This record gives sequence, structure tokens and C-alpha cells, in this order.
Amino acid sequence: MTTTYLNADLHCHCLASDGTLSPEDLAARARANGVDLWALTDHDEISAQRRAAAAAREQGMAYLTGTEISVTFADTTVHIVGLGFDPDDARLVQGLADTRCGRGERARDMAEQLARVGIGGAYEGALQFVGNPALISRTHFARFLVDSGVCRDTAEVFRRYLTEGRPGYVPHRWAGLGDAVRWITQAGGVAVLAHPARYKLGATEEFALFSEFKAHGGQGVEVVTGSHSVAEYAIYAAMAQEFDLAASRGSDFHSPDESHIDLGRLPPLPGALTPVWELLAERIHPAA
Ligand code: AMP
Ligand code: MN
Ligand code: MN
Ligand code: MN
Repeated sequence: MTTTYLNADLHCHCLASDGTLSPEDLAARARANGVDLWALTDHDEISAQRRAAAAAREQGMAYLTGTEISVTFADTTVHIVGLGFDPDDARLVQGLADTRCGRGERARDMAEQLARVGIGGAYEGALQFVGNPALISRTHFARFLVDSGVCRDTAEVFRRYLTEGRPGYVPHRWAGLGDAVRWITQAGGVAVLAHPARYKLGATEEFALFSEFKAHGGQGVEVVTGSHSVAEYAIYAAMAQEFDLAASRGSDFHSPDESHIDLGRLPPLPGALTPVWELLAERIHPAA
């Protein structure tokens, strides 16, 4: 497989986490947009991997297994994408189950806070948007707040609610960085630091994140992602080189109504970088 012009989209979500489409609809949409290599990366969840791989094959598209693990690092939530792992690996399956398990209680606490500022029924409201009861997330609350007319769109929700210092924000302890990286790598996959520009870390903390991620066995970083600006592509391309990390590319597509970057519709990776899929040649499910 040639890599220079490969349209790889290695980050998106389906109904098994906080996306609004099925794996089959995502696969069809990715293919229609010209994706050659695809990975579905649901938050803390791999239950849709078999369907996604089958749907990719159906579309004549190569596939890598994927997930996006929620991690707490320096009191900040950081996301680690795993690619190309064995989805039946027992430690990975257990680690993801443990990471998911606090979400129900957190969601009830979020609803309680929202009720205190006059927004009632948020737990039941968010549940209406949930495709997987084990994976209730802030995104589902955001959809409820838009649907019920409290906010115009999800961007407004995350400005006014659900984020640090705002009503509905409940601090949560997710997986450890080293644990998440090990679950992925011990299952034969590659760990990728997701959308690093999104974290509110100072330069020293960011350096520590990259260093520790690498020391635990992390091998990749998202450079071209729907969560980065064009200026940030260049900043994190330089960071990939500085830390000798392979580069990943992914839209982080969640929904046709909410995501401003569609599947596969991203610029190519900057030329000097090693694409992460070059580390995963053996793990790719071929197009057919
Ligand atoms: P959770 O895992 O429950 O904390 O939810 C995190 C999810 O909320 C992310 O994966 C995004 O899908 C969504 N999210 C977080 N911040 C924002 C934001 N500022 N704008 C839109 N979506 C966001
Ligand atoms: Mn999400
Ligand atoms: Mn993320
Ligand atoms: Mn994501």
C-alpha cells in the first residue's frame, strides 16, 4: 500500500459511544468521501469493532481496529487513541470496562448540578440520545441541551455548561496514562496521543505529557485532526519530529449535524513525518 497519498481517517465515533451514525453508515460515508484506510475509535469502547471491520470490507476499504481511551494526566483529561490491537485481548477488554464504569454515576451528578441551575430532567433527557447505556457522555447531555432549546448548538453548550467552572461539570478520574498505553501496546496495537492542542496544559506539562507518553511506549501523535487548526498542524508536526513519534490523521467525526470536518476531508500529513500506519502494516485488514 503506498502511503504518500493514502486517505487515512483513523479517528471517528459511532452510536457505541457519542457518534450519531451506525458503523455501516460511517463506513459508507467514509468510502464516499474517498477514505482508503479507516478506523472507528469509540470512547473507552470496542463493541462495534467487528461490525466496523465487516462494513469496511463491504465498502472495499482497508481497516484498523481502534478506540479512544479517556485518561487523567496532571488533573487534565487526555485522550489516547489505540490502533491495530487485538480486540479480544483480555487485559484491554477489562481495562476499557473499568474505564467506562464510572460514567453512570457521573451522569447523575451532572444532572443534579444542572437541576440546581434550573435545567430539570437532564439525565433522562441525555439518555434519549444514548446508543450504548454504558457510554453516557457529555456529548449526550449537549444534545439534550440543544434539543430542549437551552442552547443553540453544542459549541454553545460547552462554552456555558459541562466544562470546568461551569454548571454540569463533574471532575472524573479516568485511566492512568501508562495503563492506557500498555493495554493498547500489549494487545499488539500502537498508542497515539489524540489531538494534543485541545488540552489546557502549559508548556512544561505538555512536555511532561509527551515525555511520559513516550516512556510508557506511546508511538504516535495526531497531527492532522478535525480538532486542530492549520497552524496547529505545523506545531504538532514539529513535536512529532522532536519526540520521534509517528503521525496520525483523523477527522474525529461524530455527526453530520455537529462535526465541521467530514470523514476523510482533511489535508494530507506533512511530508517529513512517518505516517502511523507504516508501523501497523501487519495489523491492517486489507480492503478485500
Ligand atoms: P466525556 O467523555 O463524557 O467527557 O465527553 C467528551 C466528549 O465531549 C468529547 O469526546 C467530545 O465529543 C465532546 N466535547 C468535549 N468538549 C467539546 C467542545 N468544546 N465542543 C464540542 N464537543 C466537545
Ligand atoms: Mn466524543
Ligand atoms: Mn477526544
Ligand atoms: Mn474522538
